[in-house]
Amino acid sequence: MPYLNPRPHDLELDVWLKQSENHAPVPDDAECACLQEINLGAVDVIPEALFFRRHAGRDELWSAGLTHDAPGKPRAAQLASAYKQGRVAWAGSQGTRATGAEILFRALTAARQGHVWPEAFLEGPLITESAHRRILGELEAEHERNIRDAEAQAEAEIIVLARRLGLRPEPAGQSPSAWYADCPGKAHRLMISSSANQFGCGYCRVKGETAELEALANQRKEARS
Ligand SMILES: [Zn+2]
Repeated sequence: MPYLNPRPHDLELDVWLKQSENHAPVPDDAECACLQEINLGAVDVIPEALFFRRHAGRDELWSAGLTHDAPGKPRAAQLASAYKQGRVAWAGSQGTRATGAEILFRALTAARQGHVWPEAFLEGPLITESAHRRILGELEAEHERNIRDAEAQAEAEIIVLARRLGLRPEPAGQSPSAWYADCPGKAHRLMISSSANQFGCGYCRVKGETAELEALANQRKEARS
């Protein structure tokens, strides 16, 4: 059996379909991987269809957010009324088509963790109910392990500083040293690495170490007063 890498080195993700070339209708030659319900946070749970495409040595996962009445309808009708569809994950082909679909599903679900989480499995066929359950269980266990590991670094210099600045740092769960904290003076959160002693905010496009975080907090405090 060939060696399968659950985190392929050539894996690429566009989870929120930010790149225009990925924001496209699901191709006709993509097969249904599974239909699931996803929780978008707070209130909204919607059905989502995931499609798998193996093409020219590459595996692709496509997503379509469906309306509530879409499950049970023919594919064309589901896609015609879909909220948003596009290519969310891709990598070099590995193993069987089912394996390829599972690898990309795992990567997609991990990348959306904390924002979007599968609530229920509706139907396959490529990703089976037991594979779906197994992958979610593995990701949840990994998430909990990461949170425990991050908590053990709660006295890292940058975490201590973030607490002193009132930024409410808390373990994020994506990696053993990933933390969320409030972006100073803003309504969104930024990321901190307790092992690298660095922070970064994707919204504000700022990053740095402890000195830069303190300077940013002071600068915004002055701007408000
Ligand atoms: Zn920010």
